[in-house]
Amino acid sequence: MAVFYDTHAHLDYPDFAADFDQVIERANTAGITRMISIGTDLDSSRRAIQLAEKFPCIYAVVGWHPSDVLRAPNDIRDALRELGRHSKVVALGETGLDCHRLPSEKPEFTAVDDAQYKTKQAALFLQHLEVAAELKLNCVIHQRDALEDTLSQLQPYADRVRGVFHCFANDSATMKRIVEMNSLVSFTGIATFKNGQNVRDTIAATPLGQFMLETDCPYLAPVPYRGKRCEPAYVKEISEVVAQVKGCSLEELSSATCATAHTFFPKLNV
Ligand SMILES: [Zn+2]
Ligand SMILES: [Zn+2]
Repeated sequence: MAVFYDTHAHLDYPDFAADFDQVIERANTAGITRMISIGTDLDSSRRAIQLAEKFPCIYAVVGWHPSDVLRAPNDIRDALRELGRHSKVVALGETGLDCHRLPSEKPEFTAVDDAQYKTKQAALFLQHLEVAAELKLNCVIHQRDALEDTLSQLQPYADRVRGVFHCFANDSATMKRIVEMNSLVSFTGIATFKNGQNVRDTIAATPLGQFMLETDCPYLAPVPYRGKRCEPAYVKEISEVVAQVKGCSLEELSSATCATAHTFFPKLNV
């Protein structure tokens, strides 16, 4: 059976609390042998580490999600340094910039909050990059409606820190700019959606060796589970569509995406 990794999952979310052991068992049965649980704040990062300590097949990424920065401390570098040194922490993140939904869309916030939100996202993204460079780790990058700013913030670090632009849904020209910065992309279940042709076009243009697979679970369940809770086992459904789009076998896709993951996350032990 072709083996795959779920390189971006939120296993610490309450969505998985009731049947966690079965979720992991179903993943292993489906050939998903490694899962990376991504932190979205410091508590979530600590929970990801706890899961990684308990389950050999789980690894952790620690950081603070850009959509949630307003309640973050101003400086999380010491915490990132401490958590990032754990043997099963394979990268920092998810971090980056997200201007898809601004605070002022809610009545209790104003344009002043929007400005503060953007400033703080940029400050925290920079802190992740700084600490990643120090610890020689890479970054899991979340970017939405903020591509140019994200690329220009990453650029000065590109010789030391690689980014994976996760849940990648931009065009192939953008993918090429990212690859030229020595970074890469990863694809989710959107690849299987009926209206996901733009993502399939980008996958077709992305060379094997420049991308990884992920679920971003509990979100974005692939067809035929669309709309339900997503879980790591569904990387299998994603891999089948991606192999079809790439015109390669599942075995070729497996060895390319797993090798890419081991290079990008060097602490993801063989
Ligand atoms: Zn994300
Ligand atoms: Zn995520």
